[in-house]
Amino acid sequence: MDLYDQHSGKLFIISGPSGAGKGTICKGLLEDCDPDRMSLSISMTTRQPRKGEIDGESYYFATKEKFQATIEEDGFLEHAEVYGNCYGTPKAKVLEKLQQGIDVVLEIDIQGALNVKNAYPNGIFIFILPPSMAELRKRITGRGTDSREAINMRLSQTLKEISYIDKYDYVVVNGELSEAVDRVKAIVTAEHSRVSKN
Ligand code: 5GP
Repeated sequence: MDLYDQHSGKLFIISGPSGAGKGTICKGLLEDCDPDRMSLSISMTTRQPRKGEIDGESYYFATKEKFQATIEEDGFLEHAEVYGNCYGTPKAKVLEKLQQGIDVVLEIDIQGALNVKNAYPNGIFIFILPPSMAELRKRITGRGTDSREAINMRLSQTLKEISYIDKYDYVVVNGELSEAVDRVKAIVTAEHSRVSKN
């Protein structure tokens, strides 16, 4: 499909280091949003569900075999391995929504965002930055889901990831959550008033 078609929805890629708060920002963005105007893409993952996560809502939880079969069918818009688990954005659903004129939000890691950028440069790329490394450590530790080793790995990975910030169109610092959500909403509004990409 032609993503340059003015009647198609817009593809927003919300990305950034693990623990920056991408998920919470997306929740805030979509909370009181009309589903006929904007929709969050649900990814497929080989990771085990965490407590409270629901299949088909948080993620489509899949076996490695199912994930591999989806790659072979060219069923992903992008996919990446993140901290030992595979994650992918189901392609057909995203394209269908865009064709219907519905904006789609992808909440994905930085490798995934860079892959989307190659295929869909007309997407709108938003980098979510934690206010500081100390705050990031606090957030990841506070989730209580990761070992000390995993936390240290995520923090050193973050430093590498921040170097890709210049590939993005916008950066939003997630200090105060409601302010960060408002900034992302403002970007969405601005993009709908844009005359051209450059
Ligand atoms: P978590 O396991 O904590 O839910 O997610 C780990 C990381 O994977 C997060 O940075 C999240 O944004 C990213 N992620 C979730 N879904 C996708 C996806 O479909 N593609 C890619 N590339 N990353 C994803």
